[in-house]
Amino acid sequence: MGQPLSATGTVEAGKTGLLAAGRRLAAVAADLLFPPRCAWCAVDLPAAESVMVPRLCAPCAAEFAHAATECPFAAPDRGAGTAGPGPTAGATEPRCLVLGPYDGPLREAVLRCKRPAGALVAQALGGLVAERHAERLRAWRPDVVVPVPMHWLRRLGRGTSATGDIARGLARAAGLPVVAALRRTRATVMQNRLPVADRQGNLADAIALRRAVAGRRVLLVDDVMTTGATLRACHRALAAGGAAAVAGVVVARARASDA
Ligand SMILES: [Zn+2]
Repeated sequence: MGQPLSATGTVEAGKTGLLAAGRRLAAVAADLLFPPRCAWCAVDLPAAESVMVPRLCAPCAAEFAHAATECPFAAPDRGAGTAGPGPTAGATEPRCLVLGPYDGPLREAVLRCKRPAGALVAQALGGLVAERHAERLRAWRPDVVVPVPMHWLRRLGRGTSATGDIARGLARAAGLPVVAALRRTRATVMQNRLPVADRQGNLADAIALRRAVAGRRVLLVDDVMTTGATLRACHRALAAGGAAAVAGVVVARARASDA
């Protein structure tokens, strides 16, 4: 008969061994899913303890996020270079966390996100937004991440949704659930193919609620913000659905003249 203590010790040792094996397995699985390479330049990265999100090397991350900022949904040009308090703090106009201007390598990365092969880059950029705005996100206490929806016809044509992938990366890095709470009721003309003056009308009634978000604090994710019309249309639908608060998150902010 073994002594109870040693028996317990064996069980504990077994548990520890199992946990360690589980962690190793998780790390291997994560490496298979997300190889330890920069999602943008493919340089080898040191193996990490746990890899929840595809990663970027330090130089790529620094390049993409060197001008991380925050601005209102409206009049994005006016917020350039200013870093105010957390989203929506002391303001009725929802705020938007931005990784950087739609320019140079970040613009190239956003364009790659839109292609099927860009899913890892999109998730890595979402993770980078969470990392660079970690303090603001902690202060704001979001409950869920909601991607700006793409019409199913367009997703079918493209095979991927860039905003969905960015939202997934952000959510994993921030430990939040992704909720596809919005849907496009019709395939609108791509916003960036329309004159600025026509963009709000193009979206009128094109976005509807498909999952309840009542009482939740929502991070609304898009790839690029130009006039803020898309974010505002989504915000209206979320607010009508009872969302407690909405803050935007975009990878890049374009000037209306860029589009
Ligand atoms: Zn890199």
